[in-house]
Amino acid sequence: MPEKLKLVLVGNGMAGVRTLEELLRLAPDLYDITVFGAEPHPNYNRILLSPVLAGEQTLDDIVLNAFDWYREHGITLHAGCTVVDVDRARRVVRADDGTEAAYDRLLLCTGSRPFVLPVPGAGLAGVIAYRDIADTQAMIEAARAHRHAVVIGGGLLGLEAAHGLRQRGMQVTVVHRGQWLMERQLDRDAGKLLRSALEARGIAFALQAETQAMVGPEGGRVQAVRLADGRALPAELVVMAVGIRPNIELAQTMGLHCERGVVVTDTLQTVTDARIYSVGECAQHRGVAYGLVAPLFEQAAVAANHLAQMGLGRYPGSLTSTKLKVTGIELFSAGDFLGGEGTEEIVLRDPEGGAYKKLVIRNDRLVGACLYGDAADGHWYFELLREGRDIAALREQLMFGRQAASRGTA
Ligand SMILES: Cc1cc2nc3c(=O)[nH]c(=O)nc-3n(C[C@H](O)[C@H](O)[C@H](O)COP(=O)(O)OP(=O)(O)OC[C@H]3O[C@@H](n4cnc5c(N)ncnc54)[C@H](O)[C@@H]3O)c2cc1C
Repeated sequence: MPEKLKLVLVGNGMAGVRTLEELLRLAPDLYDITVFGAEPHPNYNRILLSPVLAGEQTLDDIVLNAFDWYREHGITLHAGCTVVDVDRARRVVRADDGTEAAYDRLLLCTGSRPFVLPVPGAGLAGVIAYRDIADTQAMIEAARAHRHAVVIGGGLLGLEAAHGLRQRGMQVTVVHRGQWLMERQLDRDAGKLLRSALEARGIAFALQAETQAMVGPEGGRVQAVRLADGRALPAELVVMAVGIRPNIELAQTMGLHCERGVVVTDTLQTVTDARIYSVGECAQHRGVAYGLVAPLFEQAAVAANHLAQMGLGRYPGSLTSTKLKVTGIELFSAGDFLGGEGTEEIVLRDPEGGAYKKLVIRNDRLVGACLYGDAADGHWYFELLREGRDIAALREQLMFGRQAASRGTA
């Protein structure tokens, strides 16, 4: 039997392991696979950390591939092992504990790092980011022992953190720079509805507010967050959810061309070294580094296809859509939801019923959607948007959803 090729995956997260799953389906015997993961856990569904924080699921529920899965597929897993060096000439990776592995193909899937505001006191105990199991456990622990939490950032992640901590009994204030919540996914009207719904659940907000410092004794635990307007919000737990940065430190030390992320081609190979692929939040494709799972899975399919030596697929980039995982709050947004010159808007407002729906159209094509209250048709709108379908014939019924439209065109 000819010797198998060696594939090493750096980063045991959602994008990397998805690529392996696809590869094993296409070419189960092509590679000897070794995986390095900095976290001590098997592959889990990071998205579902929010329901775990809210007490709706357990950590066991969110494991995607348990340790057995690696064994069953003959994959060598080094969990809790961070790769610190890659010698591209010898084609060998080295981890922090000295473990080495040789490769013919390397898959870099190191994800992102949360951005930590460089304010005084950011290093105090109790000031954390929200990215992994360890962060989630720290938040659950803090909720048992303490009363006040401040979440900095009113985007998707920050609001899910705030909801989870509130569910665990903390008094939570969200500090947000923007004029309304989730301004990158929602327009002002939908943002206001969301704020009211979260206030009704007991979450407080400081909008258009600038964080100046974390207050606490040196070397001790945080006690408050001071804002630029002079207010001090009590907090024994501060969660920073102000954005992520592609994790490209290793790629940079390897001499791979990086901009915001590791720059890759349409086959997800790095532009510097064709033996090295990069998929996920660490990769930058056609100028974009994505921060949601759906595009990463599309990338994974193409990379796997190429690694399987089928060479068929090309990744053209992705359109993204957003949902919030706060039980009982339905919202969906995709595309150019703000509209503007050259676009037309169809808007339905039902403030009493807490519903809001805005569709943005350009040249008889749906280009954006922002739904609050009833998001059941989100997927359908997203299909129309992605396919760039001519919606002229559906126009009258479009606002009332897929069912109404199929009746209207029948
Ligand atoms: C709380 C939360 C909720 C989210 N909710 C949603 C959602 O609702 N919808 C959505 O689409 N997306 C959501 N996301 C984003 C989604 O989880 C990410 O887009 C996705 O996990 C990125 O996959 P990835 O493989 O690129 O990175 P990751 O899943 O972060 O995996 C990267 C892995 O690489 C490891 N690593 C890094 N460097 C090294 C190294 N040198 N050596 C070894 N290992 C290394 C890291 O420890 C990590 O385990 C959420 C994220 C969080 C944190």
